[in-house]
Amino acid sequence: MSSIFSKIISKEIPADILHEDDLCLAFRDINPQAPTHFLVIPKKEIVSMADLVDEDQAAVGRCLLIASRVAFEQGLENGYRLIANTGEDGGQEVPHLHFHVLGGRNLTWPPG
Ligand code: AMP
Repeated sequence: MSSIFSKIISKEIPADILHEDDLCLAFRDINPQAPTHFLVIPKKEIVSMADLVDEDQAAVGRCLLIASRVAFEQGLENGYRLIANTGEDGGQEVPHLHFHVLGGRNLTWPPG
């Protein structure tokens, strides 16, 4: 399923890109929920965590590594939260797998 994130990958719509490689892309969330809020997505069109197959292991692993690296580059040495909203109950709005990284403030738990 194509989504707005496919258009960000293809550069049809602009984004504040923090990292790009052959497997994944990291860019700032357009509606930040914390002082630092960026998304890491695989370039492959994977709908959600619920749709992963064996061959996605490298892409998802890279996304998590890049989440960690970009978090460090963005100065989140005090910690951050990594979230993958999944499906309707998970509150997922964009049907392209994405990892949110939020930091720069004290985040409450549990989430709503
Ligand atoms: P989710 O609810 O987990 O599907 O989150 C989707 C996220 O994508 C939200 O935090 C949106 O603010 C973000 N988003 C939607 N469109 C864009 C865009 N064009 N550029 C950057 N972030 C976006």
